[in-house]
Amino acid sequence: MLSKAWKAGSGKQIIFAFRYLLGRFQKLYSVKIAQLAALIRFCRTTLLIFAPEFLPNFISMNKPSTAREDRYQHHDYYNVDDLLSAEHLLARDAVRQWVKSEVSPIIEDYANRAECPTHLFKGLAEIGAFGPSLPAEYGCGGMDEIAYGVIMQELERGDSGIRSMASVQGSLVMYPIYRFGSEEQRRHYLPKLAKGEFIGCFGLTEPDAGSNPGGMLTNVKDDGDSYILNGSKMWITNSPVADIAVVWAKNEEGRIIGMIVEKGMKGFSAPEIHGKWSLRASITGELVFEDVRVPKKNVLPNVQGLKGPLSCLTKARYGIAWGAIGAALDCYDSALRYSKERIQFGKPIGGFQLTQKKLAEMITEITKAQLLTWRLGTLANEGRHTPAQVSMAKRNNVHMALEVAREARQIHGGMGITNEYPVMRHMMNLETVLTYEGTHDIHLLITGQDVTGLAAYE
Ligand SMILES: Cc1cc2nc3c(=O)[nH]c(=O)nc-3n(C[C@H](O)[C@H](O)[C@H](O)COP(=O)(O)OP(=O)(O)OC[C@H]3O[C@@H](n4cnc5c(N)ncnc54)[C@H](O)[C@@H]3O)c2cc1C
Repeated sequence: MLSKAWKAGSGKQIIFAFRYLLGRFQKLYSVKIAQLAALIRFCRTTLLIFAPEFLPNFISMNKPSTAREDRYQHHDYYNVDDLLSAEHLLARDAVRQWVKSEVSPIIEDYANRAECPTHLFKGLAEIGAFGPSLPAEYGCGGMDEIAYGVIMQELERGDSGIRSMASVQGSLVMYPIYRFGSEEQRRHYLPKLAKGEFIGCFGLTEPDAGSNPGGMLTNVKDDGDSYILNGSKMWITNSPVADIAVVWAKNEEGRIIGMIVEKGMKGFSAPEIHGKWSLRASITGELVFEDVRVPKKNVLPNVQGLKGPLSCLTKARYGIAWGAIGAALDCYDSALRYSKERIQFGKPIGGFQLTQKKLAEMITEITKAQLLTWRLGTLANEGRHTPAQVSMAKRNNVHMALEVAREARQIHGGMGITNEYPVMRHMMNLETVLTYEGTHDIHLLITGQDVTGLAAYE
């Protein structure tokens, strides 16, 4: 009944009435708003996981009237699901439902406007997308690496930008604090980051140091209890909305150290970068440091050198390898359905051999990537995966997803370039995913170095 009334245009009145009733309830039973909100969130998440069909439409407050229907159906040609545990499947299905109800209805609109749906940070926290494989004692998910992977896959099925919001927070901000931070830093920052109360970003790339982060110019000078930080970072996901930044800089001995820089520190700013044709729903910016005084207690004490940022990147690239499969699946799913519905020359275009070639190659490549990534996940769970194996999977899967997106775009014909279908958005997003966290070519050179023992990129 509520959802009928909402559809009839009386949504605002319902919210008004709800707020009034909430106020009365609070007075009567002297319940704190925060407790009530937690109870409502709990009920909503439980419904989302176990009975999404009972969620009324008005739960998605930001749904535009032109929302595209998400008709995605699961594709698992080699029964890879049989290799997943009940916990993996539960996590995956919960995130899939969340993407269907919260991301798909709004994503084209936000991407079109090049605006980040920042309200989704809270939802990402609620579904456990921030640090799913970090320990529960710090408020994180406490799940394994495959669970982390399938969550990233489902998020990127929605949009690479939404997955990036979660990847950066979990793998590039929470992970270094967990791995290299002091116990005090862990207890202070991790629970807040896991709940989305703090948003974080990761500052490694600089205007003149991209593929070669060792060439960074950002530096610190010792000043008693603090360091004085100077320099700038470029292409930083989430930076304009971030409360904290994990920043990598050189000390006076030329060693790279990591530190937590907080919003509001004097001399620190994070201007937004505009004009992106890719990852349009993800916010990107710079980090500028002009004599920023960073207390020494903010330095990550347990790492020095490039291995600090590189191990965070390994964690994030692992998630990207899974995520790219999600984008590919969405493009394949859309192309398959379109090929059965679109009639030309008196029959569905899926009946022509050339269309079938495209679809058959797409699902073959997706299946190979699923198996590669599942194996990488089992190695990661045993702590036996290597950074070079992660490079191979990231490179292969992102390239595969981009090729799938391009073929899917062709199958959709002219409609493929519009926002009626998700393929062009995925395709544009994947151009960034191919480049960030190590470019396609750099990952090839990492594999080359791994098999020959000779570094060709220096
Ligand atoms: C939208 C977006 C979000 C990002 N988010 C973040 C973030 O949150 N934090 C962060 O720190 N960074 C971030 N990045 C930066 C990203 O990681 C870099 O763009 C990437 O590492 C490449 O660096 P570059 O752009 O300077 O390219 P360059 O390093 O200048 O490379 C240009 C080209 O030269 C090639 N090349 C470079 N060196 C060699 C070599 N030795 N041999 C052969 N070819 C070579 C590269 O493969 C590439 O094709 C983001 C980037 C984008 C676009």
